[in-house]
Amino acid sequence: KRKAIIAGNWKMNNTPAQTTALINEMKPLVADADCEVVLCVPFVDIPAAVEAAKGSNIKIGAENVHFKDSGAFTGEVSADMLNELGVEYVVIGHSERRTYFGETDQTVNLRTLKALEKGLKPIVCVGETLEQRELGYTETLLKFQTKMALTNVTAEQLKNVVIAYEPVWAIGTGVTATADQADEGNGFVRAAIAEAYGDDAAQGVTIQYGGSMNAGNADELTSKENVDGGLIGGASLKAHDFSVIVKAA
Ligand code: 13P
Repeated sequence: KRKAIIAGNWKMNNTPAQTTALINEMKPLVADADCEVVLCVPFVDIPAAVEAAKGSNIKIGAENVHFKDSGAFTGEVSADMLNELGVEYVVIGHSERRTYFGETDQTVNLRTLKALEKGLKPIVCVGETLEQRELGYTETLLKFQTKMALTNVTAEQLKNVVIAYEPVWAIGTGVTATADQADEGNGFVRAAIAEAYGDDAAQGVTIQYGGSMNAGNADELTSKENVDGGLIGGASLKAHDFSVIVKAA
């Protein structure tokens, strides 16, 4: 099976001082992980996170990146800035950014292309709303979002892409997709990649599940064929819970 990645997405939580404390607490708990361990943290926490994670198996990610190299884009952060700090991964197109900050399939694609060009590994988020699911559009929507996000991404670049299937209705709600729903959703994403790049390429792509994954359900979710780890929100803010998820993957 593909190597799993367990990535925390801290969202807008933890100050730099809290970042140092939490990562110091997590380090020994995840040291013997079989999977890749990543923490995606707010921009201002990145220096503290990189410093605290030094010498450990924890990789640091950002939660967004702009699609231009530099310029008059007030409030934005570039790939070069992230690279200089030692960032390896970057979350792109999280549903909270799509819902609250005007992120579109097009800007998700542009950010993904820039991240790849600059050697950052994008964790691209896709997922249907409850309404879309109830209307029967889950497969169509997931395939469309996946293909839009990967437009103009080369087969070589695809090797550095991670996709996270995060059903919007499962994010921060405590309502987790069943393991079968997660496996099915991830399967739709993989099928879309196969349609664009071929089956062999698609088999190599790490596809995470995200949405109320926690210490109690991670084992069942990650045991599914198509679920290669997880993108963890709330449970990544607690060292013990996060370490249990890491061990399950
Ligand atoms: P929760 O784990 O808090 O539901 O958040 C999931 C998520 O959005 C990760 O990106």
